[in-house]
Parts: sequence; structure tokens; C-alpha cells
Amino acid sequence: MPQVTATATWPFGQIAVRAAVPLLRQGQAALDAALAGAQAVEDDPAVRSVGYGGIANSIGTVSLDACVMDGRTLNCGGVAAVENVRHVAALARRVMERTPHILLAGEGARLFAVQQGFPLDTLHTPEAVAQWHKERPKPPPRPGPAQDRGHDTVTVLALDQKGSLGGVCTTSGLSYKLPGRVGDSPLIGAGLYVDDAAGAAGATGVGEEIIRIGGSFFVVEQMRAGRSPQEACELAVRKVNSVAVRRGVHPARVAFLALDVKGRLGAACTTGTNFQYAVNRDADVELRKAPEIAVNAR
Ligand code: ASP
Repeated sequence: MPQVTATATWPFGQIAVRAAVPLLRQGQAALDAALAGAQAVEDDPAVRSVGYGGIANSIGTVSLDACVMDGRTLNCGGVAAVENVRHVAALARRVMERTPHILLAGEGARLFAVQQGFPLDTLHTPEAVAQWHKERPKPPPRPGPAQDRGHDTVTVLALDQKGSLGGVCTTSGLSYKLPGRVGDSPLIGAGLYVDDAAGAAGATGVGEEIIRIGGSFFVVEQMRAGRSPQEACELAVRKVNSVAVRRGVHPARVAFLALDVKGRLGAACTTGTNFQYAVNRDADVELRKAPEIAVNAR
């Protein structure tokens, strides 16, 4: 029986790992455990970039993105730019299970949530509103590289007792983003990709740069080609770096996390990202720091 594993992005990923691991130990499927982990982070108002209490966009609205993927079947679902729904990862799973589609956005996603019995909620906390008033950019964003002012996604990857993988990604996205902006997090292949035949990968950081290289799919395809999760994540960061050089911009803060069916982990990020991720170890949860890959690294 494989050793169950749960890993999640950023220090708040510890909340997700703590919620997911007991479920994996009870024999639950990887996707169920990853979803429970992600939801624990969505419910925590102290986490300012996911779910309840998330960072608002340029007009002060909290708009969430999420997706889920099951490595056994490649079943997947996502929701983008959804307002007033706290548990967007669970909503993404409903899209996967109860519609013929993969991605619902905006008002349509909110309507689907209501039809599915999700409560409509205000996602603002007084602290988040105060932060928005203090820090919001004036004037609002202009064309050019996506701004890197405050964000972070929880991406949870899990390996269950049967040796299957599942993943979930959920976020409020870039702070002060334009209304309607969709990042990598709800996009299968960008923010998340999971295939038992190759591995699981998730991303965090400036979504525009992750989408540009098809980030998570790239990482999984590297694993399919025989690279370790660590090598695959490093190659993805090198690709982000080389694209940035070609475009004449400084590489954005981007990080990748990967897990394979043997329970091997990988993680890497661009310089200055200070990317940490949580993983279960024995009875506890450990926080690890990912290597930073400089632009000129070979
Ligand atoms: N990737 C997310 C987005 O661009 C933000 C993050 O993970 O930091 O919406």
C-alpha cells in the first residue's frame, strides 16, 4: 500500500494538509481529501488570498477561481470569476460531476451554485475591506505585465491508499485585478493537472505567466517523459524564465509543486518568490522551502 501523501502550497497549506491527511489514512480518495484540505483554507478568514476574506479586485469585489482534477479518470471541473460563493472548489467539483462541461464563469457559475444549493455569502471580512481601502492602486491597472502586489493560491495535491492522485486549486487571484480577470487557477493544465499515468502538478504565482507556458500540464508531461517531480518543476521555472527573457521582462513570481504516484515530491520557483509548501511527515506536517531558479541557471 503506498504511503499516503498530501502537499499544499504556502505556509497556509499546512491547514490543508492537516485536514486532508486523516481522510487519506481512513482510505478516502485523493480528490476527496484534497477538497477537504482546500475547503479548510477557504473557510479561514486569516488567509487573505483564498475563499472567505480573500483579496478584492480593483472595484472591491471578491471574485474567486478554482478547479479540481481526478487522476484516475482525468475528470475535471472549474469555476472562474465567481462572486458570493465561499466553497468554490466544491462548486468546481459539482461542475465536474453534474454538468457536461468543464468550466463555468461569472454569473453563470453563481447561478449554478444557487441551483446546486450553495449559500450566497458575503466574502468580505472587515480586515480585508480595510486592507483594500488602504492598499488599492489609484489609478486602476493599465496594460502591461500583470501586477504582483499580493496573491497566493492553495493548490492541494494528494496521493491515496490505492495509489491514485487528486488535486484542487482555489484562490481569490491577484489582488486589485480587473473585474472579470481569470487567472491560471481555474484552468485545467495551467493552475492544475493530474493524471495517475504521469503525476500531479499545481501552480501558484502570477497566473498570466503560468498560463503562457501551460504550466501544470508542462510539469506533468515532463514527469510522463521520465523526469522526477523535482526535475519537472525546475524545468517549468526555467521555461518561465526563458520566456521572460524573450519578452524582455523580469520573470514574474511563479512556483510549481508536483507529486507522483510513488509519493515523490518536487517544487521550484523563480527568484525572490520565497515559495514554501506543506507536506505530511509521520504524524506531523512539515514546511519546506523550494529552490529558486535564477534566470541564467542551466
Ligand atoms: N495564480 C494566482 C492567480 O494568478 C495567484 C497566486 O497563486 O498567487 O490568480
